[in-house]
Amino acid sequence: MINPTPSQINTAKQAPHNKVVLAKNSGFCFGVKRAIELALKTKEKVYTLGPLIHNPQVIAQLEQKGIVAIDSIDDIERGKIIIRAHGISRSVITRAKKKELLVIDATCPFVKNVQQIAESLSRDGYQVVIIGEANHPEVIGIADRVRNPIIIEDVSEVSGIGQFEKIGVVAQTTQSVENYKKMIHELRKHSKKIKISNTICNATKKNQNAAKGLAKNVNLMIVVGGYNSGNTRRLAKLCSEIVETKHIEVAEELKKKWFEKKKIVGVTGGASTPDWIIHEVIKSIENGF
Ligand code: SF4
Repeated sequence: MINPTPSQINTAKQAPHNKVVLAKNSGFCFGVKRAIELALKTKEKVYTLGPLIHNPQVIAQLEQKGIVAIDSIDDIERGKIIIRAHGISRSVITRAKKKELLVIDATCPFVKNVQQIAESLSRDGYQVVIIGEANHPEVIGIADRVRNPIIIEDVSEVSGIGQFEKIGVVAQTTQSVENYKKMIHELRKHSKKIKISNTICNATKKNQNAAKGLAKNVNLMIVVGGYNSGNTRRLAKLCSEIVETKHIEVAEELKKKWFEKKKIVGVTGGASTPDWIIHEVIKSIENGF
């Protein structure tokens, strides 16, 4: 019997064909909200190195308000620059200051915490292993603070790292808890001394747990968020291991055939997906598009 528990449900409405259930703890996390608020508080034009968050719809809105994404600080000569929620490497901050750009730091405090732990492990002589996406700005910012970091994301990569006297492990804040546990299990084989810091943030854990709990009780999961958002992709992967799952960015991508014979549909969104986009998706499903 399909019976979502109250803790998994934020809103639930009867649709003409599909009942839609929104996961608790979906959408914008604390760090992303804070970064956007800081950017909006700046009344004049402000630059971000790369998009402020991984969501093309929000980026388009922010651009209209004077918050402009650039690829490199070489693209500007003066002005204000905001450090995004996932942080930045120290070398870029130094270069920005040398150019006398005004730097506003919107690095999420949880990301700062990982940076500090990694830095201190490295200082204490640990071989630092970062579990995360090597090309993600958050991981680049953490790695920059560490001597010879090892960055791995998949459990299959662990066997090749070699043996070390002592290993210190941190995780990108939005990694999946299951993957992290598997990696730690394997990493233990590579050193007698291993110091583990589970730096996956609470917002991510709650988001993942709520989505998984909901996925067990529905016939289809719709995960809403940017295709370039790592945490949304991981959320979709976690759900797809439980039930049929579709990852979309906006309501316009919904397809009628997905909903045939699907009595209950679960909806969740990544940490950088604004509520209004999630609610548009829900409304569309409820109205049969
Ligand atoms: S996912 Fe967590 S660590 Fe990352 S920005 Fe959001 S609150 Fe901060």
